[in-house]
Amino acid sequence: MTSMKTTAAGQQTGRVTVVGSLNMDLVIRAPRLPKEGETLVGRSFVNVPGGKGGNQAVAAARLGAQVAMIGRVGNDDNGRQLVAGLRRDGIDCNGVATDPTLPTGVAMIVVDDAGQNAIVIVAGSNGALTPAAMAVYASRIEQADVLVCQREVPDQTVLAAMNLARKHGRIVVLNPAPVTGPLERGWLESADFLIPNELEASALSGVPVESPESAQRAAKKLQQDGARNVIITLGKRGVVVLTEGDRAGNGGKHYLPAEVEAIDTTAAGDTFVGGFCAALAAKRPLDEAVRFGQAAAALSVTRAGAQTSIPYLHEITL
Ligand code: ATP
Repeated sequence: MTSMKTTAAGQQTGRVTVVGSLNMDLVIRAPRLPKEGETLVGRSFVNVPGGKGGNQAVAAARLGAQVAMIGRVGNDDNGRQLVAGLRRDGIDCNGVATDPTLPTGVAMIVVDDAGQNAIVIVAGSNGALTPAAMAVYASRIEQADVLVCQREVPDQTVLAAMNLARKHGRIVVLNPAPVTGPLERGWLESADFLIPNELEASALSGVPVESPESAQRAAKKLQQDGARNVIITLGKRGVVVLTEGDRAGNGGKHYLPAEVEAIDTTAAGDTFVGGFCAALAAKRPLDEAVRFGQAAAALSVTRAGAQTSIPYLHEITL
């Protein structure tokens, strides 16, 4: 196994800007999930920083990128804790505004002894991240090597950010998660890389994704609908990549991940996306960026938690 080639300082050097959600995950462990109307005694409670935007920003930063976050928190302890956590990872948070009235976004998560969970998300201040904010923080988007967005902030805001980045020739990565509704054609065309997981790819393409072969078909359908480069993540079955160059050919490429003992897959997708963006921003070839994202994600599933499980650049070998 050889180490990934990095600069002398062991750093990747690209700039990644994240436009997305910041949530506090309120995690309760209980013997089982409560039934309707039932009050249950839980085993433990912990606040964990989360949100797809925050997780992907932390992943990109730990994996070597200079990261700027554009988001919105409430004027409350959760918001202050989230921003402090991002800053500890060296992330520029000057693009994170404070909403005067709405609370910071939260995800209330109950996990039972079998590892099943039930989750309720309240967008809070994430829902008030407007397209106008993209104009306010435009320089962070225009100067990024890679812009990455998800769908936990308003659709129109994501579209405004992607269009601004494309206008300035930046690389745009869209992780269309969660699936909150169909993507309009302009969306697919605005992203250089569309990175859905199996569920999202199925919902967006109408092709049920259960295997690398069906993922290839779904990716092809997404390209027919306007997507450019499509990367579908398939959990322990790896990823399928269909590039613009594959459009006329027989299909894309399937990458198997390292075999690891998975103990908690939370944030595997966010780690893959963040790592992929960090490598892409540092001008790594696509093939290497995919393998780098996969190596980082494989390491993350061997550890518990969301942001706590995201590895650092020096831990990654390819
Ligand atoms: P999550 O919502 O839990 O963050 P996701 O559904 O968005 O995950 P996945 O497709 O489950 O994302 O995983 C993303 C990538 O992480 C996979 O493509 C793979 O490279 C890596 N990965 C996930 N699970 C495993 C595993 N058990 N072993 C090795 N690598 C894994």
